Amino acid sequence: MDEPSISRLAPERAPKQGQACPTTRADRALVLYVEHFEEIALGFRAGVYRVPSSTGAATYTVLLLPRPCCSCPDGRGGECKHVLVVWVVLKHTDPCSGCGRRFRHRELTEVPEDSLTWFPGDRLCQSCIVAHGGIS
Ligand SMILES: [Zn+2]
Ligand SMILES: [Zn+2]
Repeated sequence: MDEPSISRLAPERAPKQGQACPTTRADRALVLYVEHFEEIALGFRAGVYRVPSSTGAATYTVLLLPRPCCSCPDGRGGECKHVLVVWVVLKHTDPCSGCGRRFRHRELTEVPEDSLTWFPGDRLCQSCIVAHGGIS
């Protein structure tokens, strides 16, 4: 898989509101990340990402496998900003072992070694922990 250079795509480099309009594809991807992180991360299901357009008027479908592509007009080559923002979301999240949705690393809790319900090393989101009455 040809992962773009993610170091150029650090969210802290996203253009701030009031600064000049984002001009590069990477800038526009970072703006999407900052504004729509929750929707993109929590909307992940079975290998499919749903990414809102910059205007919010449409939602595009992004797949990374078997090769990156997006349902937007520029997306067939897998190099549009929607594919880029999915790479950034991937880098900053991990899947919950319970529900499979993606969360920021700090929002997941690692299962202890002596768990009866989960495999040690599994990581769970808060909703899954609550739904199972705790993590043991
Ligand atoms: Zn796209
Ligand atoms: Zn979960």
